[in-house]
Amino acid sequence: MGGGYDIELFTKTPDYDLLCSICHGVMRCPVMISCGHIFCRNCIMQWLKRQRTCPCCRTEVRGKLYVLMHKLKRKINRLDVKCPNEQNGCPAHFALVHSQEHAEYCAYGAVPCSNEGCPAEVLRKDMCDHIHNCRYWRQHCHMGCGTLLHPENRETHNCYQELKEDYAKQLYKLKQKANRMETICCQISRQLQMMNDSMETAQPAADTGETE
Ligand SMILES: [Zn+2]
Ligand SMILES: [Zn+2]
Ligand SMILES: [Zn+2]
Ligand SMILES: [Zn+2]
Ligand SMILES: [Zn+2]
Repeated sequence: MGGGYDIELFTKTPDYDLLCSICHGVMRCPVMISCGHIFCRNCIMQWLKRQRTCPCCRTEVRGKLYVLMHKLKRKINRLDVKCPNEQNGCPAHFALVHSQEHAEYCAYGAVPCSNEGCPAEVLRKDMCDHIHNCRYWRQHCHMGCGTLLHPENRETHNCYQELKEDYAKQLYKLKQKANRMETICCQISRQLQMMNDSMETAQPAADTGETE
């Protein structure tokens, strides 16, 4: 974490006494040194590594290096800030303390595309569109046929079509089978009929033979 917060982030120009005289930003984690001057903790720590005097009044720093300014920190945390993604179109305002929280779900934040190998950074709100049109998009067919889909075959691959063709082939085979059965049935019934007929014609012939 660097120096103070960029003044540009605040919706109202922050009071002069909230600014760090080292980084000129609004103080991040304000601390007071022995002379009574206040700075961002990181800014004054960096400074004191080089010299043990206050950057404002040149007084030598004695005793405890610094005291945390909790009340001042809370006051700064309550200040209203704009989203850092304002230039991308985010209209959100919130208390400084909620910055992190907002950054995690801001629709206008740029995030890397999750498709393997894709170097693109895309605004969260546009990610859905991007992922679908991204040329690095890969996915196995969700119908479980095992085909690896990519933008080139995604539109033409049609499991349903393939299933339909399969089904039609099977149906055709079944129909042929049914037709054959029908033919056999017809043949059998015709033969039965013929047997019947010949028995009927044989009967009276025998009768006439006996009576003659
Ligand atoms: Zn600072
Ligand atoms: Zn001082
Ligand atoms: Zn935002
Ligand atoms: Zn992508
Ligand atoms: Zn498939």
